[in-house]
Amino acid sequence: MLIVHSDATRDRRTLTELFAGQLVAPFECPERVDYIIERARTESIGEIRGPDEHGLEPVLAIHDADYIDFLRVAWRDWQAAGYEGEAIPNIWPTRRMPGGPIPRHIEGRLGYYALAGETSLNADTFEAALLSKDIALTAVDQVLDSGAPAFALCRPPGHHAARDQYGGYCFINNVAVSAQRALDRGHQRVAILDIDFHHGNGTQDIFYERSDVLTLSLHGDPMDEFPYFLGFANETGRGEGEGYNVNYPLPSGTDYARWAQALDDAIARVRDFAPDMLIIALGVDTFENDPISSFTLQSDDYLDIGARLKRIGLPTLFVMEGGYAVEEIGVNAINVLKGFDNA
Ligand SMILES: [Zn+2]
Repeated sequence: MLIVHSDATRDRRTLTELFAGQLVAPFECPERVDYIIERARTESIGEIRGPDEHGLEPVLAIHDADYIDFLRVAWRDWQAAGYEGEAIPNIWPTRRMPGGPIPRHIEGRLGYYALAGETSLNADTFEAALLSKDIALTAVDQVLDSGAPAFALCRPPGHHAARDQYGGYCFINNVAVSAQRALDRGHQRVAILDIDFHHGNGTQDIFYERSDVLTLSLHGDPMDEFPYFLGFANETGRGEGEGYNVNYPLPSGTDYARWAQALDDAIARVRDFAPDMLIIALGVDTFENDPISSFTLQSDDYLDIGARLKRIGLPTLFVMEGGYAVEEIGVNAINVLKGFDNA
């Protein structure tokens, strides 16, 4: 399977993540990609190539222009305000204070455009987000051109990024941008199946009123897990999109047998939808040793996941999302691709 990768993804290294009341070293770190690419080489998964530049047009087909402008200038404006740490929001529009115009001050704008406070911005953030979407777009073009599967080794991840919000380590929604690319190149229907431990809130939000993209997500029950405010089973789409969003919130401690039941149901929904392409939002934070998640999947289970996805029989793009058990992330992510290739 073709892998699209860039060593330049290493350039995003934030120093701080607000976690459990402390500033800690971020879970979403450059070493995640190192372990995956090393394992891909060891296992001879396939050709590894770099991304092509795709510009901003495919991004603006999904995200609002003012949001992208904010990402571009946020670090500059944060520094201009005299702040010395990395940019972290600390106030939001809330139920009793929904807000008027977008604030002028960077502190207010951070709260406006952030959905959560764990994700720090620094000088590298915008470039890193652009590189990540170029990796995804290069991979989706390969799938469109050849029909063969491809793996976009994206970093930062994307599935939490909504039309005009970042958070959960995500800035540009790589799977959404890829799905739109496939539609713009002539596909009629695309399915996005999100198997990251966390709900793909951004992806759901972006396509919630559309019937040309089926969004499905298996994830930790938002009653107990990030992002807490979206991802419930009764969120099924709206208007034209009614029936085209499917959520599988699962309890803490979910093992592979239970998880695979949900996967099989999701696969049946994908088959009914009969899309031209399948995009997998590939997170491996469902792993038993993941430090910020609560499912109990084992490394061998990822082989079986890949095999089940292969049997759907669709042109398939894998896009890297989460996974924070860093030393095992290579084995787990590559096992999905191996399982797919060998099925
Ligand atoms: Zn995740």
